[in-house]
Amino acid sequence: MYCPRCATSVGAFEADAAGCPACREKRLAWNGAFRVGSYEGVLRDAVMELKFTAWRRVGREMGSMLGEAVAAGLRARGVDPRLAVVVPVPTTFRRRMSRGVHHTLVLAREVAGACGGRVERGLRRKHRPTQTSLPRSERARNMVGAFVARGPERLAELAASGRVFVVVDDVRTTGATMTAACRALRSGLPRGAEVFAGVVAVTRLEWR
Ligand SMILES: [Zn+2]
Repeated sequence: MYCPRCATSVGAFEADAAGCPACREKRLAWNGAFRVGSYEGVLRDAVMELKFTAWRRVGREMGSMLGEAVAAGLRARGVDPRLAVVVPVPTTFRRRMSRGVHHTLVLAREVAGACGGRVERGLRRKHRPTQTSLPRSERARNMVGAFVARGPERLAELAASGRVFVVVDDVRTTGATMTAACRALRSGLPRGAEVFAGVVAVTRLEWR
């Protein structure tokens, strides 16, 4: 069971539309969050594999599981999943080269497929040190301004046709990356456009 607002694991009756103890007091950059599960056990292994080795098969599996979660979550909010515009959190060019894969794009394609929606590469990334190379306390600052909306006219057009946006990433740890990505996307969207967060796994750590 997870909080529909921030996707943190919660117990029964601990979360409602206003959030959970972890997020209720916080302003979030997204309207709601979807996930497959906690970043532990089999799911943690799968995400590691997705990033570093058997990405194609694992990426499809993880992406289709996330797609089911996103479609169910949108339906629960009364949103037709086919309206989803799935935006992958961009990885840096250098990392894409070293891994030979744009793994969030692999995920995004599967999510769009499961929803009957579409993929739009609506974000661009500027070079920054990798988040994992930094202490937790510096991650949020490192991510501020790390992303830029790409093709604002196109994004505005999609929003005007009633589309909703789902920013997709593999793991959410502190939430800094997802926050920066959603803020950047929102800056390219008309006010009031709905932006959701979709991640394969969230860590159990308190996010900020
Ligand atoms: Zn929450």
